[in-house]
Amino acid sequence: MKIVKVEAVPVSTPLTRPFLMPGTRITHIHSVLLKLHTDDGLVGYADSGDTSTWYRGEIQESIMGMICEHIAPRFLIGADPRDIEKIVGQMDTFVRDNNQAKATVDFALHDLKGKAFGVPVYQLLGGRNTEASVQGWVVSAGPVDQVVGEAVTAVEQGFALIKLKSDGNTDHDVDNVREVRAALGDDARIVVDANGFWTYEQALRTMRRLDAYGMYCIEQPVPHWDIEGMARLRARIDTPVFADESAQELHDIKEIIDRRAADGLFIKMQKAGGLLKAQRWLTMARLADLPVMSGCMIGSGLEASPSAHLMIANNWASQFVHENLGPLIIHGQWENEKQPIENDIAKNPPIFSDGKLYPNEGPGFGIELNEEFIAANITPGKQPRTVR
Ligand SMILES: [Mg+2]
Repeated sequence: MKIVKVEAVPVSTPLTRPFLMPGTRITHIHSVLLKLHTDDGLVGYADSGDTSTWYRGEIQESIMGMICEHIAPRFLIGADPRDIEKIVGQMDTFVRDNNQAKATVDFALHDLKGKAFGVPVYQLLGGRNTEASVQGWVVSAGPVDQVVGEAVTAVEQGFALIKLKSDGNTDHDVDNVREVRAALGDDARIVVDANGFWTYEQALRTMRRLDAYGMYCIEQPVPHWDIEGMARLRARIDTPVFADESAQELHDIKEIIDRRAADGLFIKMQKAGGLLKAQRWLTMARLADLPVMSGCMIGSGLEASPSAHLMIANNWASQFVHENLGPLIIHGQWENEKQPIENDIAKNPPIFSDGKLYPNEGPGFGIELNEEFIAANITPGKQPRTVR
């Protein structure tokens, strides 16, 4: 079996309502849909998920350029897609960084391999540990009444954790946590994600105020490069610290572990560089006894699938709460079992029900593309690219 054609399609999916973060208002998900065609007619699919200049520093043009001009001609065309370890090794040796582009390739290879063997991707990742992964809900930044209302509804809808996005004003963050704690009671798991936008000094002052509320964790309180600062902060506050933007490559994880800079790690498949590299990443987390939470780049039912499969297969990760909610955030829904999602890259997104996520049964990710939606939502001014 050989890869004979690579297609990359820029897609912009509109959100039902904008998602707010510090200095960022997300109205569309600008992603790259990748198709790997083989000589025996199988096609592997992947969706990069949303692109973000500040989170990954990769955009549609960089992902499409890296894949179409470098990765596809050198490592994909003519290669056996089942040799994932070999292809990922070549990408890592000859392409620096660009983990979202590499992850998109890795996802499509796993989809193809699952289709080649006629099994769901989770079977390639160790089989099933749990039926479904337990999900938390991520609340868009906003006025405190709106934040509390959304948090209360999310718990009623079955979500096991509430993550609040900082809007950059730390007084608002403290108000939000105090009011959400009062509304949900002592047992609720509450997280604040600062996305690395606080300085060390802001983080220390804010966390000394937030320590009173017994949060599950503070996510990325300091900038991504400041692992030493995260270690100092962690030693001075009570709330567990999770690393997200700081924790990308395995050498970052090693540094975080060596410096005792975090109590837990936040993983996205795109940040780790795909499913194969994510498994190495999770092994390091397990070795250091660090809990993990898996999120998403906010994407389609296809984008949600790699993590959905890995989070029920990986023995370490399957015991924790995650937030892989892309399709629900995009389409403004709490579930899609009773109310099916339409207008998505995937015709059949994986099912979210009662705060849990169930990966599709295969083969591969078990995703059927919504070609009509894709054709109608190609990013304005951009063109699909094909490599043979
Ligand atoms: Mg985060």
